[in-house]
Amino acid sequence: MKQSNIVLNGIAASSGVAIGKVFILEEDDLVSVKKDVPTDKINKELARLRIAVKQTKADLEQNYEELNKMLGENYAKIADAHILILNDPMIGKEVVDCVKEGNTAEYAIYAVVKKFSKSFDAIQDEYFRERKNDLIDVAKKVTAHLLGKNKKTLADLKEDSIVVAKNITPADTVSMREAMVRGFATDLGGKTSHTALVARSLEIPAVVGLKNVSYQVKQGMSIIIDGNNGIVILNPSEETISNYKREYEIQVSNRKALEQFKDLPAVTTDGLEIKLGANIESPEEVRSVLKHGANGIGLYRSEFMYLSRTSMPTEEDHYRNYIQVAQKMMPYNVIIRTIDLGGDKIAKLGLMEVGKEANPFMGLRAIRFCLKYPEVFKVQLKGILRASVCGNVRIMYPMISGVSEIKAANKILEQAKEELRKEGKPFNEDIKVGAMIEVPSAAVITDLIAKEVDFVSIGTNDLIQYTMAVDRVNANIAHLYNPMHPAILRLLKFIINSAHEAGIDVGMCGEMAGDPAYTVVLLGLGLDEFSMSAAQIPQIKKIIRSVSKEKAKMLVNKLLKCSSMQEIEIELKKFKYI
Ligand code: PEP
Ligand code: MG
Repeated sequence: MKQSNIVLNGIAASSGVAIGKVFILEEDDLVSVKKDVPTDKINKELARLRIAVKQTKADLEQNYEELNKMLGENYAKIADAHILILNDPMIGKEVVDCVKEGNTAEYAIYAVVKKFSKSFDAIQDEYFRERKNDLIDVAKKVTAHLLGKNKKTLADLKEDSIVVAKNITPADTVSMREAMVRGFATDLGGKTSHTALVARSLEIPAVVGLKNVSYQVKQGMSIIIDGNNGIVILNPSEETISNYKREYEIQVSNRKALEQFKDLPAVTTDGLEIKLGANIESPEEVRSVLKHGANGIGLYRSEFMYLSRTSMPTEEDHYRNYIQVAQKMMPYNVIIRTIDLGGDKIAKLGLMEVGKEANPFMGLRAIRFCLKYPEVFKVQLKGILRASVCGNVRIMYPMISGVSEIKAANKILEQAKEELRKEGKPFNEDIKVGAMIEVPSAAVITDLIAKEVDFVSIGTNDLIQYTMAVDRVNANIAHLYNPMHPAILRLLKFIINSAHEAGIDVGMCGEMAGDPAYTVVLLGLGLDEFSMSAAQIPQIKKIIRSVSKEKAKMLVNKLLKCSSMQEIEIELKKFKYI
């Protein structure tokens, strides 16, 4: 008899309950399963291999062209190196020989890569040893072509399903928007990994950091995702299913009850009005943003445009994308964050290879990437500038670590403006420019940064990661990732006070802003604008409308005297609204 009610504990990434059947999303990988090919089918197998190699070569050549155009010869060489591996006669012959012995092309690639990997491992020189990864990459690309349509993707979903995977990349989440995904569970990830925050924006219950759920499930198996408590139940019993069905109904009616707050202002009992914005990743989300009663877009993660395509967006692509949001959101502000590629958001533009770094979150990411490749940056800035005539568009730079980066970015912005003037394309000359405060060095010099920009927005997802030295996507240390650490509280107070002294507004667009546990704390700290997943807005509005600014300030004064997160959490629990 099969075992029922297997409970796995993970990290609650997106609230809610989902009950359904498992859909296993596989990663691009090599195929180690040995299957014999009958002698009369060997020629056909060799033809399959030839076609897959040809398709991979075409992809790599296109990559080369794009990299060369946008990033220069040096990066294009990466694609070039892959083409060389693909054309290597020795490796090629070994694969062909292995197929001739009666193996599938997929298995032949796996076996030959395994053999060559061993030789690479024995090489003393680190540079040449690392070329093993290039070989594996190329092998995976050919294998993906061989598997073609056989590999299941989210686009194959025919019925409501719960997606289970080792990891879901931000690129996968783009297709999740259209697919019939009712919930998901992953081995990897933390509460603020991009996969988790996309789940919240799509209102899909999710549990991440389950370590080995992907090894424990079978395609089509029954599963429950409890995103409220961070648990997953495999093969649930009838009784468990009916308990969770009741919980699901409560969830639906709670959401309905919150709808009454949609058109009410977010104003405290003593009359302070707070702006509640939404975080989005694509223009399609604007409908949901308006439905939940947001006062603007506090963060448009524009890099998602790069994650859903395989070629670089043009100025026109950017412009068309942003005007859709700007027009629909009139008269509210739309803060477009310039691309934050890198970290866990790696685009498949051939930039994939550029993203390979030992510490991607601390690497060539966001504004650093844009300043290194000003031509890529300028294309986006021109698109944003042109969209600024159609609405209240603002620009925001991510991952700022010092004043010189803002100055350098503004210089490129000036060049973009100058080019548009020459081309006779209109834009808002007084477009407002802001900086994200998400790197501790920026936080410490908020006063200096405030002199260079019109507004700042605190990105707590990264600010906490870098201040606490806790990788935001690492499940093993997720317990250390806590916005209520005294250091974070002090830092937030410092940022908000410094910005106010300089006379500018402070927003927050990290996940902390949409977490009801911290709403009163942020009010007490004096935050001007909160930006979050649209679905969170009614709940946060309800809290703001039930508390006074004075009471929130008193709470914060108490919390600031605590010496540990545990003490702070005890004080927070004691807090009474009235
Ligand atoms: C943040 O770091 O808080 C943030 C909003 O940016 P992202 O999550 O996209 O890194
Ligand atoms: Mg960030």
